[in-house]
Amino acid sequence: MLLSLLLLTAPPADSVDLLIRHGTVYDGSGGAARHVDVGIRGDRIVFVGDASRAGLAPKQTIDATGLIVAPGFIDPHTHSFEGLPDLSEARRKNPGALMQGVTTVVLGADGRGPLDVARVLTASERLGLGNNTYALAGFGTARARVMGASSAPASPAQIDSMRALIAHAMSEGAFGVGSGLFYAPQSYASTEEVIAVLKGATPYGGVYDTHQRDESSYTIGLLNSVREAIRIGRETGLITNIGHVKALGVDVWGYADSVLALMRAERAAGHMVVADQYPWTASGTSLVAALVPRWAESGGRDSLRLRIADPAVRERMLVEMRDNLRRRGGDSTLLLTGGAAAARPFVGRTLKQVAALKGTGAVEAALELIRTVGDMGVASFNMTEQDIETFMKDPFVMTSSDGSGGHPRLYGTYPRKIRRYVLDKPVISMERMVRASSGQVAQVYGIPERGELKEGYFADVIVFDPKTIREQATYLEPEKLSVGMRWVLVNGRAAVANGVPTGALAGRAIRRPPRV
Ligand SMILES: [Zn+2]
Repeated sequence: MLLSLLLLTAPPADSVDLLIRHGTVYDGSGGAARHVDVGIRGDRIVFVGDASRAGLAPKQTIDATGLIVAPGFIDPHTHSFEGLPDLSEARRKNPGALMQGVTTVVLGADGRGPLDVARVLTASERLGLGNNTYALAGFGTARARVMGASSAPASPAQIDSMRALIAHAMSEGAFGVGSGLFYAPQSYASTEEVIAVLKGATPYGGVYDTHQRDESSYTIGLLNSVREAIRIGRETGLITNIGHVKALGVDVWGYADSVLALMRAERAAGHMVVADQYPWTASGTSLVAALVPRWAESGGRDSLRLRIADPAVRERMLVEMRDNLRRRGGDSTLLLTGGAAAARPFVGRTLKQVAALKGTGAVEAALELIRTVGDMGVASFNMTEQDIETFMKDPFVMTSSDGSGGHPRLYGTYPRKIRRYVLDKPVISMERMVRASSGQVAQVYGIPERGELKEGYFADVIVFDPKTIREQATYLEPEKLSVGMRWVLVNGRAAVANGVPTGALAGRAIRRPPRV
């Protein structure tokens, strides 16, 4: 009786819901392409091999002749789900990511991750997500919760409070802790403070992911900043991940090799250090973050306005802002990309053009914008192709988008990297591209049963056309969907079918399994 019931309920081993046939398969392990078929039943991959020889009987077939089959990409640094669960359904569907083949995104880049991780993940999943997500606890969130925008060093009691918040977030399934030490007020935290707070994550393990303190020559300098990120990971027992690694600005151009050498030496000493990277020469940030000295932000935006209004303080700010602008490459390298309604007339112009319009110097124009229309988004062209390629070729540098509004990276990163750096140039191989964008991210973060095309793994699978794949988003039209992605399966369900987003909410919230 029991046996016959089992036979009735369990599908026969040779039946699959969906079979992807005749594709060129990169399985995410970093190995060379194989010509195998991929069978899916329910939310799992149940077969990788020769389907005709195995006599599989699929309910549905995708003919992937001439197409590439790969694990869905996992984006370890993006802002696309920032604000969950309070995002509109359109945002939660995340078609911009799906049309790039991204099936899982991090929540909590730059230290802005949640602290009530269980509530955020459960609520988000209940509302519905277009792709999977996993969370990093936010160092910045914890500091703001305990200390507001204060620039003071944390007291022992405040450190205890922050540490407890981080430990709690980790206990609820965060995969590590993010920080954004470049940004105020996180920038006011000393290395020792960050270490003391992050010890709350030590019993859980995971990743310390950082938008590091200095990607340029603003404060401690790029190399000292990398040393700091490494030290924080080492002393807290976490893997260090340098988020969106780059050499930002004229003072550090050519430093990619030196950054990679520091990472290599640390790995040789037994501490895992990795990085992720986006393939664009412009970073996306804000006028304030790019130009205004951090001391001027102490106390928050109202205090900043008061300082701008004080002639003596304003003069001091302008001197430092001139140097910050020089560092980034000058007034023609800052493109204004967004802001409040009153900022609209300036969107699409460079700071140089706005200064000409206003008949003032560039930093004076920037300060005037900040005072009158508020902070604005900018694309800051501050990286060299050579540094980008040097970082990309390193086997410990993964792909990320750092996706945020007003920059084409939110909609175009992965197809751009495939088109420009794998197919056209090529800087890296397709197997490296797939590995750096899927299996390696899953391995570094400890995301279970995803990132590779393996029997038993979740069916996050993408099928794309190497002849047509490319980004369409540009700096002036950043929200154009990429093309060439034909099928994107999230947990076995089609989120993109025949090149069109289906609107399916097939994503799940992934929690870090407890350490055994
Ligand atoms: Zn960042």
